[in-house]
Amino acid sequence: MEKTEGEILKEKLFNSKKSGWEGLSETDTRNVFKFADEYMFYLNQAKTEKEIIHFSKEILLKNDFKDLNEVESLNPGDKVFWVNRNRSLYIAVIGKEGLESGVNIVGAHGDSPRIDLKQNPLYEENGVGLLKTHYYGGIKKYQWTTVPLALHGIIAKTNGERIWVSVGEEENDPVFYITDLPPHLSRGGQDDRKLSQGIEGEELNIVAGTIPFEDEKISEKIKLNILRILNEKYGIKEVDFTSSELEFVPAYKAKSVGFDESLIGGYGQDDKICCYSSLRAILEVQNPNKTSICILTDKEEIGFCGVTGMESHSFERFMVELLDKKNENVAGVIEKIYSNSKAISADVDAGFDPTYPSYYDSRNSCKLGHGVCICKYTGARGKSGASEATAEFVSDIRRIFDENRISYCSSELGKVDKGGGGTIAVTFANRGIDTIDIGVPVLSMHSPYELTSKYDVYMAYRAYLAFLEN
Ligand code: MN
Ligand code: MN
Repeated sequence: MEKTEGEILKEKLFNSKKSGWEGLSETDTRNVFKFADEYMFYLNQAKTEKEIIHFSKEILLKNDFKDLNEVESLNPGDKVFWVNRNRSLYIAVIGKEGLESGVNIVGAHGDSPRIDLKQNPLYEENGVGLLKTHYYGGIKKYQWTTVPLALHGIIAKTNGERIWVSVGEEENDPVFYITDLPPHLSRGGQDDRKLSQGIEGEELNIVAGTIPFEDEKISEKIKLNILRILNEKYGIKEVDFTSSELEFVPAYKAKSVGFDESLIGGYGQDDKICCYSSLRAILEVQNPNKTSICILTDKEEIGFCGVTGMESHSFERFMVELLDKKNENVAGVIEKIYSNSKAISADVDAGFDPTYPSYYDSRNSCKLGHGVCICKYTGARGKSGASEATAEFVSDIRRIFDENRISYCSSELGKVDKGGGGTIAVTFANRGIDTIDIGVPVLSMHSPYELTSKYDVYMAYRAYLAFLEN
């Protein structure tokens, strides 16, 4: 049957997007599933920002990247990385052109919402040993009760000792727990609270033990018994909590979701999904024209701040190190590099959830399995706080994606005046770098178990690679 004039015209003029799974070749399908398996392995190895940096560094070393501190000079094609305080990581593949002509940057973040220990956490009350916490990032607190939690982090002692802690990941490890009231008791009380106050911050107390230390003469026997165990295991005293970073994260593993196994369920996919896809991309960059940079930053979830956040001048320290070792460090060169550079803020977006359609503008949101989402601007209520990319820059991105057959849709974070948010895009843009948000749609973002599409994570990797190589 010949197509009608209308059909032909519609095909030519409409911006119609379809599921990436439709018409996907057998080879590509195999690639998608293989990549997803490797990504899920990464998710299960690294649940905190420090573990992300540690594990990503191991991957870099296996792929012939060198620690920038151990390199005397840099030449085109060289592959290096620089670690900032075990919490953020800057990776570069040196280009043929000088740095002044600009660099291509993909920046993701390794930190995810979680439950942090307070610095003075341990107490006992009515026969239970408990730990006080302060949640990190934007969470719906009720989601974090009654799920198995694992403890990850580091305790730094005054004698210089650094103790890495991981409890709850191995098959025979104990896990930790935050309680909630049974429905039999919450009627007329907790049930009548607003959902956002269903569980309050000070109710996120971790159950840590119940066995008392056997000694009639002392008080706080359960607390003492827990400290005795910690002292035997890690050699720490109560005061050592003061200099610790201990984080509770969901104890369960990432898994395939659905009968067709097309989806991934896992903790911390915001933004480990972009950490992994951008890391995999830069591993493959060979002799680029412009220097390729991949950043796994920290503290995105609480405002890009601190020495390891993207606002920090630690990025400039890294750039100066590159300039010095390329012998290109002259006054004012950093600003020139920035004004010639382009960046992708590689971060997740809220995927369209068919159970809650009224919260989205369906024409301007990304659906699972439709490829990466391009977010020209973020912000909230009149684009406030957005570092809106220029139309010209977006057209460059479209050209690169079209040439490399990358599927994408363009999206906003929820409805106007209802949704909104921001990413590290502003921190690049403030430096004078052309910046755009490109990432992966996620359902149930910031929950203990987030949902993504295997097709989209593979597309993200291909999108970042095409951008870095361009
Ligand atoms: Mn994010
Ligand atoms: Mn987030």
